[in-house]
Amino acid sequence: MKIGVLAMQGAFREHITSLASLGVEGIEVRRERHLEGIDGLIIPGGESTTIGKLLVEFNLLEPIRELAAGGMPVFGTCAGMVLLARDIIGSDQPRLGLMNVKVKRNAFGRQVDSFEVDLDIPVLGEKPFRAVFIRAPYLEEVEPPAESLATFMGKSVMARQGNLLATAFHPELTNDLRIHRYFLEMIK
Ligand code: GLN
Repeated sequence: MKIGVLAMQGAFREHITSLASLGVEGIEVRRERHLEGIDGLIIPGGESTTIGKLLVEFNLLEPIRELAAGGMPVFGTCAGMVLLARDIIGSDQPRLGLMNVKVKRNAFGRQVDSFEVDLDIPVLGEKPFRAVFIRAPYLEEVEPPAESLATFMGKSVMARQGNLLATAFHPELTNDLRIHRYFLEMIK
């Protein structure tokens, strides 16, 4: 199994390390040809406006949309969640726009730039997940076929829509590999 990790900008190396810990090869995706032969794609955290601009510049939006439409699993973390959302509050920035959710960027306020919290994520089992939030978004609305998988302060911070998965936090920055494993299960 090969997983593409979008490597335009942001925390892509950490995802490749998480995948390697699970015995899976991560492929850095910078051009359309790097999408060939991958079984899934991770869109990392970083700066969603920058990543979106680069996706436009390198003509990657359509090829990724086509792969997702064909059923290939795509997992976005933080900025990746923003890029997967159909609606981004107050912004017309480029996006994949694949998930039926409305996202609010930098949603937890400037004064709390980053924080960690033990999150209940029922699909992962009983043990809470230590979630690292960095200038994180949350989902203001999650409409079917998207469904929320976890909430924090009454807001959705993890959602799935069929072959699409998004977290507002950074699972690649902790040693808990359950979310990456959950994503890999979506591929089999
Ligand atoms: N605030 C960033 C954005 O909206 C996301 C931050 C992150 O990915 N850690 O693009």
